[in-house]
Amino acid sequence: MALASEKRPTQAYIDLDALAFNFHSSKKFIGEGIKIMAVVKADAYGHGAARCAKRLEDEGVDWFGVALPEEGVELRNAGIETPILCLGSFWHGQEDALISHDLMPVIFQLDKAASLNRSAEKRKLELSIHVKIDTGMGRIGVRLEEVEKFADDLKKFDHLKLEGVMTHFASADDLSENDFTKLQIERFQTAVKIFEDKGFQPIYKDLANSPGAIGHPDARGNMVRLGGVLYGLGGDVLPKEIAKPKLKPVLSLHTKIMQLKKISKGETLGYGRAFTAERESLIATIPIGYQDGYSRLLSNNANVIVNGFLAPVVGRISMDWTIVDVTDVENANVDDEVILIGESGGQQITTEELAMRTGTISYEITCGINLRVPRHYLGDRPT
Ligand SMILES: *Cc1c(COP(=O)(O)O)cnc(C)c1O
Repeated sequence: MALASEKRPTQAYIDLDALAFNFHSSKKFIGEGIKIMAVVKADAYGHGAARCAKRLEDEGVDWFGVALPEEGVELRNAGIETPILCLGSFWHGQEDALISHDLMPVIFQLDKAASLNRSAEKRKLELSIHVKIDTGMGRIGVRLEEVEKFADDLKKFDHLKLEGVMTHFASADDLSENDFTKLQIERFQTAVKIFEDKGFQPIYKDLANSPGAIGHPDARGNMVRLGGVLYGLGGDVLPKEIAKPKLKPVLSLHTKIMQLKKISKGETLGYGRAFTAERESLIATIPIGYQDGYSRLLSNNANVIVNGFLAPVVGRISMDWTIVDVTDVENANVDDEVILIGESGGQQITTEELAMRTGTISYEITCGINLRVPRHYLGDRPT
């Protein structure tokens, strides 16, 4: 795995074989006959949407989910042909982009349905939509008490076809909230029945994100929407106590030592002099900082791997630089590889560990790795 030397060596490796492994492993665990939507919003949680989608399409995924129509357009421009659902609906003015790129929106507002219907009518098309029900997440969706009226109003739009009904769980990752998850499932079933009683025939009935799909077999419907598990981020978003598919981390984060220096006992390092050496120390400076997504909350609060040894981050992380204590690393040299997320020589640092140290979830860590950090793809098949 040679880093390209003409670039700053701070790079993320994206292991597409691990992505494919996680897809098949999760699909097998979830079971026959349930379609898989791969959620690749937010640039595939920072992993690179176009490349990840291409590989998942080759592996036979059924759908892609994006947040914004813009993200769907990016996938179409990259040659993706699999159906794409825009989970976050759309904004007025984006109707033509949706239609011309064959993107399906989630709908939960009548004004959006009306404007999409007008655009479809102009083109003499029938467009498929998925309707989102708010069963307890409280974010976006038609509220249960409004479903009846919404369904009646939807009937008036001759150029729209209800292809899917969906909802989203608030706490599927927390077993102590199982009663609430159950309530959400019941509310969803009520909503689906209202649509069906009024003559709609939705093909897709989907509720589950990763924790829902893995931890709640009764929530799988006929499609599940998987994000986190595909990227191997099961360690903090799946309940600890449950059976789960084997998953492999997809992203690793690497750099190289830029500068090495010996400092004396009592010297301080970095902004705010937040670290004082308690012994004569060998200190390495690495070219990564909070701008790259290596959180300032990791100041004096993380390890990196150098030559198979864990080395602690010392002092404050700054915008472009981080300082590590390599006194106990055997034979540390300038240009040695440094692993911030990943494994080497029997040592491992997971995204979940960095999330725990910074009080967040793994998704925010991978999403936060800035575009200034090039993604370097491994295991891609020639197409
Ligand atoms: C992001 C998202 C998902 C995927 O959630 P994961 O926990 O990453 O599996 C599923 N459905 C909707 C509506 C989403 O916004």
